[in-house]
Amino acid sequence: MKNMVILGAGTAGTIMANKLAPVLDKNEWQITIVDQHEIHYYQPGFLFIPFEIYTKDDVIKPRRDYLPPGVNLVMSPIEVIEPDKNRVKLSNGKILPYDFLIIATGSRIHPEETEGMLDGGWQKNIFDFYTLEGAVALANFLKYWEGGRMVLNIVEMPIKCPVAPLEFVFLADWWFTEQGIRDKVEIVFATPLPGAFTKPKASKFLGNFLEKKGIHLVPEFNIERVDSSKNKIISYDEKEIDYDLLVTIPTNMGDEVIARSGLGDELNFVPTDHHTLRAKDHENIFVIGDATNLPSSKAGSVAHFQSEVLFENIMRAIDGRPLLPKFDGHANC
Ligand SMILES: Cc1cc2nc3c(=O)[nH]c(=O)nc-3n(C[C@H](O)[C@H](O)[C@H](O)COP(=O)(O)OP(=O)(O)OC[C@H]3O[C@@H](n4cnc5c(N)ncnc54)[C@H](O)[C@@H]3O)c2cc1C
Repeated sequence: MKNMVILGAGTAGTIMANKLAPVLDKNEWQITIVDQHEIHYYQPGFLFIPFEIYTKDDVIKPRRDYLPPGVNLVMSPIEVIEPDKNRVKLSNGKILPYDFLIIATGSRIHPEETEGMLDGGWQKNIFDFYTLEGAVALANFLKYWEGGRMVLNIVEMPIKCPVAPLEFVFLADWWFTEQGIRDKVEIVFATPLPGAFTKPKASKFLGNFLEKKGIHLVPEFNIERVDSSKNKIISYDEKEIDYDLLVTIPTNMGDEVIARSGLGDELNFVPTDHHTLRAKDHENIFVIGDATNLPSSKAGSVAHFQSEVLFENIMRAIDGRPLLPKFDGHANC
């Protein structure tokens, strides 16, 4: 029996399991997918929780419901990948040998990477909405907030769903209007980018739209630290922004298992061929979704577009054919 092992049963891993299960011969291949949580978190829904459009229950689903029959789901944290031995060690003691490995371990936020972020103000007047806990805590805060200066800050790129911070401030503008307190809230959008967004045309359009909504854009703000005793964020070039409420998009990084396995760059993203989606230096390891170091957006939609190319290339690799360099960075969000 040959082994196709998928690490991570989030958006990308689940898509790959669903694509491969119907076509790989069950007498020849065992597909195994590993994750640490029984629950699938629908992350795009986190954006709507602070504004009471969604509740917690709208974004949690049983992971098993989305996996096809015949796929072996193993619940355990992944301890380490050993590419030289073609195997993965799990924290539950299991060892999974593989013929092909698909890494789909995603990315998550690391607020501790910014000095002072977790001192004093964390989940008091500093919140994220990239985790379920953060989004729920922010919803509880906003319910009783009477107004002040709300600063949204992107710590650094890349982040997953690069448009989510903009969506957040536009939703906030709507929400505060609905609550009858828009005139008591100043909204500031502080970003390390030179404009509102990554792409110049969209950046210009969205910049105008921010202005129209009375949202103050602070470009090229590279945060160095948070002074939560004075409610200030401070940049490397010593610019300061005061806040009453700080909504942060902290540093996004790949999972620690990537670092432990010696497979990552400085942000624990896996160096991946941009067009074939094969891990650089490893013939039988492929990477998909947020776990890659691709310059394309980190988004579920991008994982979907990547999966078309990855599926074809895995089938070609199984047949001993050269891979096709077909992924062109196609993205939407
Ligand atoms: C607020 C917000 C809004 C968003 N909006 C959109 C949107 O509108 N459109 C869009 O396309 N995308 C959006 N996204 C991005 C989208 O959710 C992600 O890009 C997508 O989930 C990436 O899929 P993935 O499979 O690579 O990672 P994930 O879905 O995060 O899955 C990774 C999986 O790996 C598992 N894992 C990681 N490490 C380990 C380990 N060591 N052991 C065991 N298991 C492990 C995790 O438990 C997880 O289940 C949004 C994200 C956020 C946070």
